[in-house]
Formats: sequence, structure tokens, C-alpha cells
Amino acid sequence: MKNKYIFVTGGVLSSLGKGLTSASLGALMENRGLKITLMKMDPYLNVDPGTMNPFQHGEVFVTEDGAETDLDLGHYERFTNVYLKRENSVTAGQVYEAVIAKERRGEYLGGTVQVIPHITDEIKDRIRKVSRGKDLTIVEIGGTVGDIESLPFLEAIRQFRSEIGEENAVFVHLTLVPYLGVSGELKTKPTQHSVQKLREIGIQPDFLLCRTDRILPQDIRGKIALFCNIKADNVVTAKDVSNIYEVPLMFYEQGVDEKICKKLRLKARAKGLHKWAQISATIAAPKYGQVDIGVVGKYVDLTESYKSVTEALVHGGIANQCKINVRYVDSEQLEQGDVETQLAGVSGILVPGGFGLRGVEGKIKAIEWARTKRVPYLGICIGLQLAIIEFARHVCGIQKATSREFSNTGEFVIDLMEDQRRVERLGGSMRLGSYVCKLSAQSLAARTYGRNETSERHRHRYEVNNHYLAPLENYGLVFSGVDPGLKLVEMIELKDHPWFLACQFHPEFKSKPFLPHPLFVGFVAASLRFNAQQAKKITNASKGKINTKKNSLAQSMMKMRASREVYPR
Ligand code: GLN
Repeated sequence: MKNKYIFVTGGVLSSLGKGLTSASLGALMENRGLKITLMKMDPYLNVDPGTMNPFQHGEVFVTEDGAETDLDLGHYERFTNVYLKRENSVTAGQVYEAVIAKERRGEYLGGTVQVIPHITDEIKDRIRKVSRGKDLTIVEIGGTVGDIESLPFLEAIRQFRSEIGEENAVFVHLTLVPYLGVSGELKTKPTQHSVQKLREIGIQPDFLLCRTDRILPQDIRGKIALFCNIKADNVVTAKDVSNIYEVPLMFYEQGVDEKICKKLRLKARAKGLHKWAQISATIAAPKYGQVDIGVVGKYVDLTESYKSVTEALVHGGIANQCKINVRYVDSEQLEQGDVETQLAGVSGILVPGGFGLRGVEGKIKAIEWARTKRVPYLGICIGLQLAIIEFARHVCGIQKATSREFSNTGEFVIDLMEDQRRVERLGGSMRLGSYVCKLSAQSLAARTYGRNETSERHRHRYEVNNHYLAPLENYGLVFSGVDPGLKLVEMIELKDHPWFLACQFHPEFKSKPFLPHPLFVGFVAASLRFNAQQAKKITNASKGKINTKKNSLAQSMMKMRASREVYPR
């Protein structure tokens, strides 16, 4: 079969959901048995988003092979069965870097090096490389049509399609059709202008996906079709949905995948989207109520920074058939304020990954609260490091316990490893990507995973200092997960606590709605139990009748077991 392509662009404004649209198209095409892959092209000059401020850019998504990529790759992996690699995330910075390096090596034989053809050729080469062996490649172009910096990418895909032929690539353009309350009308002008911009540079979209808050009536679709030179049938309503897992269903109902396949002359039959319908139904009407989880971090003003964590919690909720109310708690405010009021009502505490000193003491307060009040706790990366610092200070009496990341003096229970210090001086030292973790038999970690080994993705610089293992262990901290090769601590837990687990890696990157991560499933189940106990206490106090939620818990445990069986290593 020939390689086929879907190019996804966006117009009018950013944040319309191009990433989710591309991911949903991926899900629909995979559902037709096609071997797919997805790529993101980011027009900024950073080589990767690894160095970008999370307040500006949102989460950095880490792939199996340790690439620091755009958060849209997270959507792609969650919505499909694919595991992406470094080459699936392309930035203008990478492209220019590669072209300039070739120029320095004299590979252009003295020619003038230009955006067209050299930059555009490099972009096309990268698309070809990724699509090798795949039936269909979905390429999302970041940014908004009309931006100066996206032009080389748009030019590259224009050339690409004219080289491979119309039947092998479709252009899908996502725009906005706002409803104007004052006049009571849906406005098509922004869409018209955005398509004009695309046509100016030689791209005629085949499909228009229109973000709107209501179903587009036939006359509006007709009008858009006329002005944008598109078949009315290919003007699709991309209506706002209550949860992101409804997006594939919405496109499926309008036959988008069918039409794209027809255009690409792909003979691939859809199997129906029962599993998507099922999870959407679970999210819409959870059988076993809801539970409040406190996510304690410093990037709470831009919750996009915790995208994968939030989604993994939703997956844990789906597995337990409950709704998760995520409460983002500002760790800096916790530093000053009273923990009890700020964490009142949460049935689980999660400290996600983070960098730098700001808000650290607030997170430590939240961890102490979880430990002493027996609230379920899941610590991720810095969430493990701070749990160790909290334990060292408050249980072992090592008052000056800290991490070398936060201070130059003190007892470094978290430290840089000797060989890392050398790399640090050379400018890079992150431990990135997948590493194996051995789990101790009988530990909560092993029980939660349902096995004794896992492999998880990393993104951090500091490690647990092995010199402190013995004193910490003596006071009851359990090192339940260890990297067998590097001999580094990967997971910890507390003996006398109902559910207190922390990991040096980022489990959230591997969670999918249909393959919820066991740590999130277990954490949500424990939070539900805590919630039920609290309810019981209140009811007991008022001597009313108690709903023990026994069924809900039994159900959660069953789901947990089910998820263990399918979760990949
Ligand atoms: N800042 C810590 C480190 O670099 C933790 C990183 C993280 O939480 N991802 O080790």
C-alpha cells in the first residue's frame, strides 16, 4: 500500500484543539485497521520544548526514547496505540540546526542555502522518514495560518502533496465559527479569511473542521463551502464537547474518517466505536460518585502543565467508574497558609513533577499532611524526592535534609550522582526516557502493578542519595522499586500507611484511557476508600445510616486487577 498522509492546519486563533483533532483522526484511522503514525511540526526556534517555561508552554511530554516533546504527542499516544519517538516531534529549531550543520560540512557544494528549497527539503525528508512502513501519517502543523514562522512548514506540505499526488494526501483545516449573541448569528468570516490565507500560499483545504458551540445548520455549511471552495459535505461541525474522549465519536458520526478514506482511496472498514462510547458514558454518568484529588504544584495557573497527570487521573477514574474532581492547590500558598483549610475535603494528594525551589516547602507540608492524616498519596518525581526529605526531617530527625537542587548546604538526601556532576559541567544531565524498575515482592508497588518489574519514563536530574538508605529504612521507609542497572531508588512507600507511594519516574506519560496506569488506578481506588471512610465517620457521628460503598470498592478492585493484566511493560 502507498503511504498516505493527512495534514492538519489551524486558523483564526490558537488553542482550538488541533492536537486533539489530530489524535482523534488517528484513533478513527486505527479503528479501520490502518497502521498509523502521527507527527507534530512546531514552528518555534527552540530545538525542543525541554528548556521552555511550563507557565508558557505547558507540559513537556517525554517519549519512550527520552525525547522532550510537545504535549500534543501525549494526546496522540493516549488516543491511539502508537508509541512515538524523537523523530515524531519536529521544530523549526531542529530543522535549521540540521541545515546549517550540513552547510558547515560543505554538503551544499557552495550553493546558496535558502528556506526554499533547503529548509523545505529537510522538512519533507523528515516526514518521509517517519512515514516509512506506515499506511497513514498524520502531520499536525503547529501555530496558526498567517503566522510568519509557520510558512516554511506550509510550503513544505504544499510541495509534498503536489509531489505525491492528490489521492495520497488530504489537507484538513481547523477553524472557528463563533456564535454572536448580539445578532444571534453564527459568523463565517473568520473561517473565510483563514482559508483565504491558506489558498494564498497554494493550499486548498479538502476538509474544514469548524469549532463551534452548536451544530452548524445546512445553510451555514453551504455558505462556508461556497466561499471556501469546499464541498458542503466536507464542512464538519467540531462542536464543543463535555469531555475530550467524545471527539472521535463526534467526527465518526459525521463520517469524517469515511470521507477521508474515500478521498485517499483507502479501502479500510471501520469497526464501530463501542469502546469510545463506553468511556464517554462512564465519564458522563459515573456509577460510583466522585472523589476530590488535590494536585499540589506551582504551575496551577496553567493547568496545561499537568496535562498527562490530569488525564491519567481521569483514566484512573474511568477504571474505578468514578468522577475525579481535580483540585489544583498552589504550593506557594500552602507555604504561607493553613494546610487544613487548603486541603479540606480532598481524599487523595498528588505531588506531580517540578523543578526549582519555589513552592517546595508547601509541597512538603502537603506530604506531611498525607502521611500523618493517612490520606492516600501519590508522589511523582519531585513528589518522591520531597516525600523523602519530609520523612528524613520529621521522622528520622535529620533536620537539615534537603536536595542539592534547593541549597548548597545541608544533608543531601537527594543529590546529583558523581557521574552526573561531570555531565552537568558539560551542560546536560537529565535522566530521560525509559528505565527498568524492579519491584520488591509483597510491596504495595508490586501489588498495585500486579507484577515485579516495570519500565517507566524519566525526566529529572537528581536522585535519592544511597548513603541515606539505611537510616531511612530503619525508621520505616520502604524502597520498593529499584533500578537494577543503575542501583538507584525508583519507588518508595510507607509501611504503616493505607496508601502512600512515590516514584522517581513519570507514570502519567504511559496512561491511556483503555490502558489506565496501575498506579493511578490504585491511587484513585485508595482515595475512594478514604472518601468512604470519611463519609462513614461523618454519618457515624450523626448516627445516621451509612452507605459503606462496598460495591463501589469491590468494583474498583476488580477493575484494578483487569488493568494489571493488560498493562504493558
Ligand atoms: N527537579 C527534580 C530533578 O531534577 C525533579 C524533576 C521532576 O520532578 N521531573 O531531579
